[in-house]
Amino acid sequence: MRKWNILRGRLYAATSIPGSAEVLDISHIPAERTRNFSVIAHIDHGKSTLADRLLEITGAISADSRNMQVLDRLQVERERGITVKAQTASLFYTHNGEEYLLNLIDTPGHVDFSYEVSRSLQACQGVVLLVDANKGVQAQTVANFYLAFTSELAIVPAVNKIDLRHADPDRAVAQMQRLFDCDPDKICRISAKLGTNVESVLTSVITEVPAPVHCRRDAPTRALIFDTWFDRYKGCVPLVAVVDGQLAAGDVVVSQQSSRAYEVREVGLLRPHETPVQRLFAGQVGYIHANIRTASEAQVGDTLGLRGHQITPFSGFKRAKPMVYAGLYPMDQSQVPSLRSAIQRLTLNDSSVSVQVESSAALGQGWRLGFLGLLHMDVFTQRLEQEYDSEVVVTSPSVPYRAKVHGAKNIKHYGSEEISINGPAQFPDVSTVSEFMEPMVTGTIITPGEYFGAVQALVLERRGRQSDVTNIDNERIMLRAVLPLSEVVVDFYDELKSLSSGYASFDYEDAGYEVTNLSKLSVLLNGEQVEELSLIVHTSRARSIGKSVCARLSESIPRQMFSIAIQATVGGKIVARTDVRALKKDVLAKCYGGDISRKMKLLKRQAEGKKRMKRIANIDIPRETFVKVLKR
Ligand code: GDP
Ligand code: MG
Repeated sequence: MRKWNILRGRLYAATSIPGSAEVLDISHIPAERTRNFSVIAHIDHGKSTLADRLLEITGAISADSRNMQVLDRLQVERERGITVKAQTASLFYTHNGEEYLLNLIDTPGHVDFSYEVSRSLQACQGVVLLVDANKGVQAQTVANFYLAFTSELAIVPAVNKIDLRHADPDRAVAQMQRLFDCDPDKICRISAKLGTNVESVLTSVITEVPAPVHCRRDAPTRALIFDTWFDRYKGCVPLVAVVDGQLAAGDVVVSQQSSRAYEVREVGLLRPHETPVQRLFAGQVGYIHANIRTASEAQVGDTLGLRGHQITPFSGFKRAKPMVYAGLYPMDQSQVPSLRSAIQRLTLNDSSVSVQVESSAALGQGWRLGFLGLLHMDVFTQRLEQEYDSEVVVTSPSVPYRAKVHGAKNIKHYGSEEISINGPAQFPDVSTVSEFMEPMVTGTIITPGEYFGAVQALVLERRGRQSDVTNIDNERIMLRAVLPLSEVVVDFYDELKSLSSGYASFDYEDAGYEVTNLSKLSVLLNGEQVEELSLIVHTSRARSIGKSVCARLSESIPRQMFSIAIQATVGGKIVARTDVRALKKDVLAKCYGGDISRKMKLLKRQAEGKKRMKRIANIDIPRETFVKVLKR
């Protein structure tokens, strides 16, 4: 049976196989007419909105004013209005009478997700670099530009939001010319919201971005897995960039890492929903259903080949380097198995998270997870809750420190050894330590001139060293500084935003380790040490952080029937103390008589609060407390 399928107003014949949806044939589009590109920009500059318009123009979705960031599919993304996950959409577009296959990858903008961006770029030959006409070039624009530039990708510059009343596209164009050496005539001026000039982006992608090179359809198949997700019915679904050869249902693919073989059930394009095709060819990007059941079998960075063919696997991806570690524990130990499988499945969709088993006296068995930042950690735990119904307790986040230790019990030979300290529980006995080291980052801050003084003061306060200052134009200044990661991950960005009325932007990259002074700050509740609340701090900060931890704890620990002494100590010495007074009245005290349903409501609310608590040292501590205490 033949089915007619309408694409962009042109009619296509598509063959259909029994019992399945229509299967597209894309063999007539050669690699020369394929473009793989990504949209990169600072957060909120309009990447996802541009993707909406491109999907509409090419007929992948019908034009509708209700289309808003359709590629942001996760619940967290819709709630927070940010992209956390790169998404792919294959578009068909006719240019000069010839049909093109454009694979668009929408990427997240926040620095915590730059691993998604760098991975996506490996499947691309070019990028659309988007800049908000109102805000101009921001810190992440610079970071993303260098990411694309050093990967030798073609860059299609575009200025977005030209419809805004205060938009100043000329200024944005001048900044891009000055910083990135873009030809002003080649910068597209668009409004992604209204659709103005958006087609010029597509035309530029076709003319400026090269087709994937060295794509031989007749060579032995090689496909690079660059993303995966878990489907309840189909198992692990890898998204691949086919570099050589072809892939079709019925083929048997072999993982080059595990040597396991899988029969391919279906191959297809994301448009943006899964659309089966007869064959995927070299140069294309698509998904594979191959009944891969467990998360560990489909690894991002793995190469798939066909059974019986010798191929050279790709070198894979650099592993993501965790920036913060935190313990994750189930609310109840009976939930360990379900949380384990939830974490496995979610890490399949987010390969940047590192996982190790950990246990704690008060919280039982759990995991120590490495994240790329605090937002990443927040999003991950929110996804566990929303997508896997797993509620967790999160302990205070900590950056990966190192120490040179000598004479420790487990080191037999004379000399010293370097250890890594990913959490307070691993903090060594200070008498054995000859040197502590902490991770540093190079931060890029772009700010309007009027806030420059305040920004410099903040950098200094956070133990930063300014390294260079550039004028972007006569209003904006770019400042680069080396800062300790621990001073940056928690609330540096919030602070920067508030002191600059939201105008300054920030991004950072790894800058190795530096020698430092560290102490372990312990927290005692009624004399009992709560290991889960311990923190590793810079020694000069111990007292002030101790004070604010005590204050925060006394705000966040609900009052009990007895009073609680909260103490912070370093090496046994008390550096701060507060008290939580005993609870005097019960929640029903105010409503004697009256409606029973109101009392029930109050009691229910109290019971709900209790459910979210975890019992430690006879004192109820809500799970939010752990994250809250670290914020200064
Ligand atoms: P992303 O973070 O880069 O993906 O940005 P989004 O696509 O989520 O857009 C951020 C905000 O900017 C949303 O509220 C959009 O509606 C808005 N926006 C995007 N493009 C335009 C535009 O061309 N004009 C105007 N006025 N607003 C836009
Ligand atoms: Mg987005």
